[in-house]
Amino acid sequence: MATDYDAPRKTDDEQSEDSIEELKARRHEKNSGKVDEDEVEAAESFELPGADLSHEELAVQVVPKKSDEFTCSSCFLVHHRSQLASEKNGRLICQDCAY
Ligand SMILES: [Zn+2]
Repeated sequence: MATDYDAPRKTDDEQSEDSIEELKARRHEKNSGKVDEDEVEAAESFELPGADLSHEELAVQVVPKKSDEFTCSSCFLVHHRSQLASEKNGRLICQDCAY
């Protein structure tokens, strides 16, 4: 009796495994190297220097000023607090743009 139960189970496993293997094989045939190589190359070139560089660029753009500096809303340059000419509605104007 036990063998009767085991027999169909094994065939089920084998069938599912076969279908997965078939899917894998079909995927390989579809991509056939083209997409895979491009994706791998893009991922490698992006991860090696890309991650660090993009992070630094973001940090520089988002936090360009120190506590004693401000970004002019007109020329978008970072000036020292002493160069702040006016501040209206959150817009900081440097002395160069104020005159
Ligand atoms: Zn300015």
